Amino acid sequence: MKERKSRPSLDRREFLGASALGLAGVSAFGARALAAGEVGDTKSEAGAQASGSRAKNVILMVSDGTSIGALSIASIVSRHKYGRELRWLDWIADGARTSLLNTEPAEGHVTDSAAAASAWGIGERVRNGVVCVTPDGREPTPLGAQARQMGRRLGFVTTTDLWDATMSCFLANSPSRKQSRAIAEQMLTRGFDVGLGGGRLVFDELEPEKHGYRVARSRGEMKSLMQGEGPALGLFAPGSMAYTLDRPAEEPTLTEMTQAAIGRLSALGDPFFLVVEGARVDHAAHHTDAGALASEMIEMDRAIGAALDFAHDRDDTLVIATTDHGNGNPGFTNHASTIEQIERVGNAKHSFAWALEQWRALAKPVRTPAALAKLIQQAIGGSFSTRDMEFFDRWLAGEMIDPTAYRNREFSPIGAIAANYYGISFTGPDHTSDHVILSAQGPGSELFPAVGHHTAVHDALVEAMGL
Ligand SMILES: [Zn+2]
Repeated sequence: MKERKSRPSLDRREFLGASALGLAGVSAFGARALAAGEVGDTKSEAGAQASGSRAKNVILMVSDGTSIGALSIASIVSRHKYGRELRWLDWIADGARTSLLNTEPAEGHVTDSAAAASAWGIGERVRNGVVCVTPDGREPTPLGAQARQMGRRLGFVTTTDLWDATMSCFLANSPSRKQSRAIAEQMLTRGFDVGLGGGRLVFDELEPEKHGYRVARSRGEMKSLMQGEGPALGLFAPGSMAYTLDRPAEEPTLTEMTQAAIGRLSALGDPFFLVVEGARVDHAAHHTDAGALASEMIEMDRAIGAALDFAHDRDDTLVIATTDHGNGNPGFTNHASTIEQIERVGNAKHSFAWALEQWRALAKPVRTPAALAKLIQQAIGGSFSTRDMEFFDRWLAGEMIDPTAYRNREFSPIGAIAANYYGISFTGPDHTSDHVILSAQGPGSELFPAVGHHTAVHDALVEAMGL
């Protein structure tokens, strides 16, 4: 898509006026820019006049796979359960720069995490599944590697494998995100100062200690890891870390890891670039699991709060919160939206994944639809009708029970039944084409366009970090 040289700009006063309306203001903001023909790969023209846009520290918070509908669900649950609005939305209301971003990859309209994070990492559109390799085969140096070459400290925090798409696109180049070993090796070799998350299976095979990393493997070891000399790597799970609802005590929370990484990087004294990902928001949306989704979003919001708390009263730190793509585009539906349903979402005890895992561990004779229903009931509450049980029966027998093929996947039928209980429906169990929200505050925040493409995030980050 052709770049547009000019774009309508809003002055600070006008922007604050728009953002004070909260999300409604954001929509009006976006709609105005769209009406003026603002589409595609918008480069931030503010970059040209970037004096005062340099940030000593940059913290990029990525709530992976978060449709605006997921943000709204979390906001509703947070207000009812905890009596407070999400920090993210309060932050927007207080005047954080807010953008709506188009997420399209090089081909097609719906991106995966690799193509989205590659747009951030190298400022170009790549095909889905690719880590920072352009369609014509070039391998530009990703932003994290550039930042490190320029003397910045580099940190990664995620609730999935550290080698997975979102983190790797800031440091690696690979024709496929599935080449986990090669990607992890590149990350270790190109180097980072702090890495906290999952992915022990792949990283342990590469013996990170031999690359000079000190390694922690449990929550209890995280504190001493953060205090020693040299690069620190926390590998808290073999693959993805657990959902917040199912978290074992030996795994740290996303907020704890975020605070630890910020503490470590800031104590080193040099400028830093930290990327934090709440990866399981995306997974919960793939599982059409509203209870897990709300709790992951609320945990992500706490981690955003930790970044904002660090930046508060400082004028040298740029904090950005965004997502790589929508997923499932879920929402409470008007056919049955009650306080009781909001409470049910907020009170989920376990994820669908927990229920299915427990069920699969049962001996075959007792691995029945009724046993699954009982486990789901244990996880989310409620009770199941005879019709629900018939539905499970047909699904477990491999029958296609929804005319839309992809809605017959592993978790979707559980989500479809839970929709009656929660009052929340998903468009499906996969990424969606909706625009995503980005908020930013601190030096360089003015570089993000009101409406643009993910590639504009790269350009703003380059400018803010002086790369
Ligand atoms: Zn996903």
